[in-house]
Amino acid sequence: MNQPTRQHNSNTTSVKLQCRHCQHASASVVLMPPGATHYAAARCGNCDLFLQWLPKPENATIPKRRGTIQKLLESAALTGWERDFLNSIQQQKKLSPKQQAVLANLEAKLGGVR
Ligand SMILES: [Zn+2]
Repeated sequence: MNQPTRQHNSNTTSVKLQCRHCQHASASVVLMPPGATHYAAARCGNCDLFLQWLPKPENATIPKRRGTIQKLLESAALTGWERDFLNSIQQQKKLSPKQQAVLANLEAKLGGVR
């Protein structure tokens, strides 16, 4: 069994996006410099047309979650335990499935925070 050849350019990944200009079905992911507003741009692999901005893969949910937690903490309906829970997960990079479930329950209970 031969190993498949590795991607020739490790800095470039591709995503499945159809180009509205040439209908090419694959786009290159072009990473933006660190600190830039956007994480990466998707550009057509054929004609290089800009297609859309791409969020950072695994960290993208963290700022969003922080915002959610912040809003939940502002709620007066929280019990002391719930407040402690939110404060503790606020510092965490990754939540366990159980913690995610508790957070989802709190969001539902407090009327859904957008
Ligand atoms: Zn194109």
